[in-house]
Order: sequence, then C-alpha cells, then structure tokens
Amino acid sequence: MANERPPVVIAGAGPTGLMCAIALAAHEIPVVVCEAEASLAHDLRAGSYHPPTQEMMARYGITQRMHEHGLQVRHWQIRERRGALVAEFDLGLLADVTPYPYRLHLEQHRLTPIQLDILRGQSSAQVHFGHRVTGFEQKNGALKVQVESDGIPGTVEASWLIGADGGRSTIRKLLPVQFEGFTWPEQFLVASTPYDFSRHGFALNAYIADPVEWSALFKMPDAGPPGVWRVVFPCDSGVPDDALLAAQHVESRMQGFLARGDAYEVRHKVIYRVHQRVANEWRVGRVLLAGDAAHLNNPLGAFGLNSGIHDAVNLADKLARVWRGEGGEELLDLYVRQRRAATVEAVQAMSIRNKHLLEERDAKVQRERMQELVEIAGDPARARAHLLDSSMIAGLRRSEELQ
Ligand SMILES: Cc1cc2nc3c(=O)[nH]c(=O)nc-3n(C[C@H](O)[C@H](O)[C@H](O)COP(=O)(O)OP(=O)(O)OC[C@H]3O[C@@H](n4cnc5c(N)ncnc54)[C@H](O)[C@@H]3O)c2cc1C
Repeated sequence: MANERPPVVIAGAGPTGLMCAIALAAHEIPVVVCEAEASLAHDLRAGSYHPPTQEMMARYGITQRMHEHGLQVRHWQIRERRGALVAEFDLGLLADVTPYPYRLHLEQHRLTPIQLDILRGQSSAQVHFGHRVTGFEQKNGALKVQVESDGIPGTVEASWLIGADGGRSTIRKLLPVQFEGFTWPEQFLVASTPYDFSRHGFALNAYIADPVEWSALFKMPDAGPPGVWRVVFPCDSGVPDDALLAAQHVESRMQGFLARGDAYEVRHKVIYRVHQRVANEWRVGRVLLAGDAAHLNNPLGAFGLNSGIHDAVNLADKLARVWRGEGGEELLDLYVRQRRAATVEAVQAMSIRNKHLLEERDAKVQRERMQELVEIAGDPARARAHLLDSSMIAGLRRSEELQ
C-alpha cells in the first residue's frame, strides 16, 4: 500500500517548505514538516509575488486568501535619485498571458500563516515546530533523518528528505555540496514607514538609481491601511549593525531618500547581508534541496521567495509522479535541471544586472542605460518582452521546455 511507505520529510517551515508540503499533501502523499523554531518566522523579509507565483499558489487556494489583504501592484518604476521618473512599466500588458497581471504585495510573515492553515487542513500532512533536523543517513535506498526536539535526539524514517531549511541549510552542508557564488560587499538596510510616498509620484514598487545611494521601494499592506513603505538602502559592511540601525542613522538615510520637514515614523528596520549563490548539486540520492537552501540572490527584482515557491511546486509535482510509479527517479533530475536553469540563467543573471543598473558609477553609462529603459517603456512590444522577463514568465517557460 502506498501509504505504508515512510513519509517525505521536509526540513523547514518557511514559504518553500510549506509550499512543498501543501503540494505533496494535495497528492495524498504523507509528509512531515520539521521546523527548528518554535513558531513561524515573523521578521521583515520578502513580500512581492510575481504573476506565475500567484498562478501556482492559486491551485491550492493560497493566492485567493492572499488577496484578502494583499496590494495589487500593476505599475512599477525606475527612477533616478536626483531626477524624476525614468520609466514606468504596466503589468496590464500581460493580461492576455496571466490572470494576475500585477505583482501582489503581502509580507512574507502574512503568507506563511495562510500556508500553515491550509496545510493543517490536509490529512496526510503533519507539522512539528521545535524539531531541528540535525543529520541523515542514506543506505541501500533507505533514509533515516535525525531530528532533535527539546534537546532530545530522535530518528524518523523517510522516503525522501527535502532540505528547505534556508540559506544556512544544514542539509546542504551535510550532503555536502558547494554553495558557489559570492557575497556582496555592502549590507542592506530595510526600513519601513507609513509615510505616503505616492503623493510624490512613487509607484507602489520603485527602483531608484544612484551611484552612491541607490534604493528600492515596496509598499506593503501591514496590518491594514495606510500600510507601510519599505525602503532598501546599501550600507557599508564595515559599520556595526547597531550603528546602522541607530534611529539617527536610519532617519538620515530616509531624509536622504526624500527630504521632508518632519521626522519619519520608522515602524521596522533590519540589516542583512546579501549573497548570490547556487548549490552545485540539488539532489544526492533521496535528499533534495529547494528554496534558499539551494540558491540566494539580492532582493532587486523580488525573485528569492518567488523562486522558492517555483522550486516547491515543480519538485512536488515530479515527486508525486515518482511516488505513484508514473515515472522513474530521473524525474527528480529533471526538477534539478529545470529549476537550476531558471535560477542561474534568469534569477541570478537578472538580479545581478538589476543591482549593477541601479548602482552604476559611470555617469555616461548610466545615462545610456536610463535612455534605453525610456525607449523600452515607450515601445509596447519591447515593454512586453521586458515585463515577461522581469515577471519571471520568460525564464520559467524556457526552463520548463528542458527535458
Ligand atoms: C533577513 C532577511 C531579509 C530578507 N529580505 C528580503 C527582501 O526584502 N526581499 C526578498 O525578495 N527576499 C528577502 N529575503 C529572502 C527571502 O526571505 C527568502 O528568499 C525566503 O524566505 C526563502 O524561503 P525559504 O522557505 O526557502 O527559506 P526560509 O524562509 O529561510 O525558511 C527556512 C526555514 O527552515 C528553518 N530551519 C533552518 N534550519 C533548520 C533545520 N536544521 N531543521 C529544521 N528547520 C530548519 C528555519 O527556521 C526557517 O523557518 C530576506 C531574507 C532574510 C533572511
């Protein structure tokens, strides 16, 4: 009997692990999620969902619930810090290829409770908080996963183990596989304020080019109107975190972004390091990687969390076919080929290009690039191609053609 087989164990209840569990449980595959922490993460992280990600999550009723609170962002902009608007893109141009011709903005910490709630309604799924995966052993096609809870070690038999345990993934380190790439020299400061930037002409998502102080702006719904605007700034990595997070420093960066008479009300602030890395193997036997455990990128373009969801759905669909005997394990290698191609050729390339575009120091090069964007935005065919790329549609299509 299919259900007598040991479950699929997933390390990590972030958006990737939960998505993978929901998609597997929808196929009635027994799945156990082990999350090291006592509860879901609640910090400031991603929160911008591209059209294909919304389509994928709609299959499981997630997108519909995200819309109850999320903001539909149809336009996004490229701006110059010392000047005005350079180009505005209208996702409405994609209305013939997606039912969601906009980015949906919703804090990551409002997505994961929706996912958890849906998962808890699925009879073949279990979620254990306070359960840290510490190791695994693969022998003769059998897999044993070591899990520690309250300091007490235990072992769980698993058919497959999915490492969705984030950028510092224990599973990736234990495989062990290389996490090739680099770390950007600067740190990123993210501060959020309820101050309404739209009155100055900013779209709910804007990227601001400047050789010294580029930035990015994302409006998030917060607990409800008026919502908050998140501003991302680069910071010198030689300065300690507490100095970067000091109220005076954050205020001076916000005033530098847009000077106003009054002080900004800053609701949240966080500092973090940013990497561009891709694991060189995503599957070793019965152990697979997905999400941040397999790849990391900078947030310019909002690809990280979206890619984790794309990995999760792709992997779950293929693993379900293997589980039901409809295909061999080579389907899992196809998962790796497709998702690794989308990561390397689209996500890594575009996120690095986006950062270089915003921070370009050569004034002549910057002027040429901005002029090119003006031309792209002014030509519907080129604007559409640009939107298909930046909305992750083109990269996904190309990767899914791989066999
Ligand atoms: C501080 C920070 C800020 C970010 N800001 C942005 C942003 O502004 N824009 C953007 O696009 N992206 C941002 N990201 C990236 C984005 O949040 C990630 O791409 C996304 O969270 C990936 O989801 P995930 O499920 O793969 O990994 P994670 O969300 O990291 O989830 C991994 C989960 O695994 C758990 N875990 C770890 N080790 C174990 C273990 N051994 N056993 C069991 N469980 C384990 C962790 O507790 C965690 O809950 C940010 C990330 C961080 C860390």
